[in-house]
Amino acid sequence: MFGERAEVDATVLGDGDPDLAVVGGIHGDEPSGVRAIRHVLDTEPDLERAVKFVVANPPAGVAHRRYLDVDMNRVFPGDPDSPDRERRLAAQLADEIGGSIVLSLHSTHSSTNPIAFVSGKHPDAQAVAARLPVEHVVNHDPVVDGAFTSCKRVVSVEVGRQLTDAATTNATKLVRSFLRMTDALPDEPTTGSPDFHTLTGSVEKPADAEDPQLLVDNFREVSEGTTYATTSDAEFVADDSFYPILMSETGYDHIFGYRGRRAGDSLQEARAAWGTPLAGDE
Ligand SMILES: [Zn+2]
Repeated sequence: MFGERAEVDATVLGDGDPDLAVVGGIHGDEPSGVRAIRHVLDTEPDLERAVKFVVANPPAGVAHRRYLDVDMNRVFPGDPDSPDRERRLAAQLADEIGGSIVLSLHSTHSSTNPIAFVSGKHPDAQAVAARLPVEHVVNHDPVVDGAFTSCKRVVSVEVGRQLTDAATTNATKLVRSFLRMTDALPDEPTTGSPDFHTLTGSVEKPADAEDPQLLVDNFREVSEGTTYATTSDAEFVADDSFYPILMSETGYDHIFGYRGRRAGDSLQEARAAWGTPLAGDE
């Protein structure tokens, strides 16, 4: 509703102008990112570089809702004059982060292990994602429009299962790894050696599906002809082989989740598959 105040909540730690940022709470029903930011701020870390910590959608967080007007992670770069709160917040957030390197924290219904999401267009974000302690890095460009990752140098991470303590623990570890890898904190970061995938589409689920059962695991290839899910009155068979990504029985109303293809075992292979411009082209 127009006129209602909605402001991102930003805190800077460390000396100077920040060119690093940690963002939580784009979705108000995913508190783990905001809790991780609070944990890190509560320890009053002695940062060697300035870092901006941002709670992106406080009104949705207070309401414990994913969003109030529109899904904030589909409306970047946002619009400061929109009647929709999330469009105004997206514009504010894009402005707050400028060209910073950003870690944005989300949580999910489908996975307990962290997964990073990037744009195929932004090599700096990919370079950060490839070093985070995650098992998988996914380019979601072909399927999502207007995600925060469409801004340069933004990595989104699904830290774990929504509303679990484990998700908050993962998120806190990821923030520390990110701050170490960018030399904001001393010590060697915990890094991973993820594989790389490309999101290619969604996997439909009837809205009135009763007793949906998922028969496959995320990131394990499903071959053509395999029954990947059932409901009380239907079986769902793969027309083509695919990799399930963010699939779950009840995470979304109209889809089981997403399908993808493998893009490689290394960042170099993935960039070739994604047609990523060289870093200097950004
Ligand atoms: Zn989210």
